Order: sequence, then C-alpha cells, then structure tokens
Amino acid sequence: MQKQLLNELNLLEDEMIHIRRYLHQYPELSFHEEKTPQYIADYHRNLGHEVRTNVGGRGVVAKLRGAKPGKTVAIRADFDALPVQEDNDVPYASKVPGVMHACGHDGHTAIALGLAKSLNRMQKEMKGTVVFIHQHAEEIVPGGAKSMIEDGCLDGVDCIYGAHLWAPFPLGEIHINGGNIMAATDKFEIEITAKGGHAGVPHEATDLIVLASQLVVTLQSIVSRRINPFEPVVLSVGSFHAGTSFNILPDKVKIIGTVRCFSDAVRKKVDAELKKIINALCEMAGAGYTFGYEYGYPAVVNHPEEAARIEHVSKNVPDVSKIITMQPMMIGEDFAYYLKEVPGAYFLIGAKDPANENAFPHHHPKFTFDERVLRIASSVLGCVALESLYSG
Ligand code: MN
Repeated sequence: MQKQLLNELNLLEDEMIHIRRYLHQYPELSFHEEKTPQYIADYHRNLGHEVRTNVGGRGVVAKLRGAKPGKTVAIRADFDALPVQEDNDVPYASKVPGVMHACGHDGHTAIALGLAKSLNRMQKEMKGTVVFIHQHAEEIVPGGAKSMIEDGCLDGVDCIYGAHLWAPFPLGEIHINGGNIMAATDKFEIEITAKGGHAGVPHEATDLIVLASQLVVTLQSIVSRRINPFEPVVLSVGSFHAGTSFNILPDKVKIIGTVRCFSDAVRKKVDAELKKIINALCEMAGAGYTFGYEYGYPAVVNHPEEAARIEHVSKNVPDVSKIITMQPMMIGEDFAYYLKEVPGAYFLIGAKDPANENAFPHHHPKFTFDERVLRIASSVLGCVALESLYSG
C-alpha cells in the first residue's frame, strides 16, 4: 500500500507545487486567515471529504474515511504567513504587501492537500480514517492548536504526525528524535519605575539604568545557579528601553525577554526566581516595578514509539537522504499541544534550495526552499499514517 501511495504522490508532485505557488501569492497573517482556509475546505470538499470549518477560530478539519474500519490518524499542517515584505524575484511572489509565506507554511498546506488527494484515490482499499488538521495561527501565541483541540479536532484521533520543512538542512534529510524536539517559549516583561532626576545629582535620584543593568546581569544567575545543570534553559533579554538624554536619569525602564526550556516545572521555577530577584533589587534601590510572565507554547516532546515509526518508514521513501538524530532546538511550535493529548511525533525535513547555496533562514524576506521537499515530506507523512493505520 505504501508503494501505491508513493506512486500517487509522484503523480501529484506538479499539483503540489502548483498549490504551494498559488498560496504563496496570497499569504494571510495569523488570526486573519480567510481565503486560505476557504481554499483548503473547497479542495477537500471536491474530494468528498467531511469538512468542518472555523474550528477553534479559523482552522479546517477534513476527514477521509477508508472503506474498512480501523484506527484514526491525524496529519497536521499550519497555514499562516508572516509580516515580512517578500524580496524574491519569482513569478509567484507574494501579491500582498508586507505579508509573506516566509516560513514555508504554504508548502505544509500543499503537502497535506497532495497527501489527501493521493490517499483519497486509495479510499476503497483503505482501512481507518485520516484526519487532516489544517491549523491557522501557528506563528503567534496563543496559536491555533490549543483552540482547535478545545473545539474537538482531536476527537477520536489515535495519533498525530506533523513536519516542518527546513531550508537550512540539505534536501531530504529527516531530523527527528524520540523526546525533546523544540522548547517551551515564554516571555517576560519588567517595568521599573522611580522618580528620576538630574544625572549630575544621582544621590538624590534613583538611577534606574544602573538598577536595570544590575538586574539583567543578575537574571543570568537563575540559569547558572538556580536550575539543575542537566536541564537546558535559555534566558535572554531581547529588549531594554530607557532614557532620552545624557544628563537625565529616566523615570522608567522597560525590559522584555524570553525563557526557553523543556519542562513545565522549570518554567514555574524561572518565573518564581525572576519575581524574587526583581523584587529584591527594586526594594534595595527604592524603585517600583511591574512584572509579567507569559506562558507561551509548551515544549514539543515526541513520543518515542511514534518517532521510531517515522524513522522506520523514512528508510523506504525515495530521496530521503539521511535520517539524523535531532538536537533539540530552542525555538517553539504549538504542535506541542497535540502531543500533550495523543501519541505522535514531529520532525524537520531538509529543504535547502540548491539554487541558493547561502540559503536564507526562515522568516527572512529572501526565504526560499527546494519544492521537491513537497513530494518527499508528503511521502514520509503518508507512509507513517498508513503504517500506523495498519499496525496493531
Ligand atoms: Mn513555521
């Protein structure tokens, strides 16, 4: 059956490229997707699939029921774009000013639709059900996954698979492991306030710049002194705003940062330690503060058996060049929520554009990828779905 699927996907390669290029011209921002979900829903309806729209907001869920009873496997593809002005000179460049599919979610959608069509052609022999979860708003917290789950997209689903095409990796490389794949991505905001004053008379003011600088340095001791060294954690301050002139001590400093790690216990611990340090330093300096810790996506943690299944089927997919044990990355993905509910696995698949040796990274105005990844990724996802439906 997997052989037949690979043949069908070969035949659909051009159509997947066509879908990708079409969507690429009409990107839509997270939580503002309208035409994309409509396009997806129409495509599935034409195939005769059961379709539910506006799932958890703007998501689309389509079901392909095989002729024979069996398990239910879900494939997830996200479809939102980014606030980036495209700088590629291609005939299918974005037609929407300031918005671009700069992360490859147009490709993810093409992969899922191509897979839906090819599996549909095998419906009469197929056992079980494949659910296509087309998710809106992956790029911005709170994301679409959580609300789609709350709206029932995983009802009856036994396991789930997903992939991200990855332009920095050579075409066809599968990067996966049976545990931590991507980090929890949290955000914190600190605002410190005091009276301010003349820079020449610091003893009569509260120097918030000195205080905030001390704070930034002290925060680093959370990672190095308060967390078990066997727990990977990143704490970065990405924004620090204060002051207007050389001779004025400001009355306000704003600091924004991110915390990335793999465990919910560590997140809570960092949150508490941040509070302690901010409170103590501000107290010492006589400053006021507000502090907010925003819990973003949890960590993406693969289920080992399902990751192994992906590795296993990948060996028989043409043009999978290598299967590599993935080093966890400190970026986030709301695929995490699905894996908290049902078994499954997520992987990265290499898609480096050969025409562009210095491949531009995801989210860059010159981001591109090798479209052959559409066939390879849909083959891996399709084969793992079948493998899963026909096991046990
Ligand atoms: Mn992405």
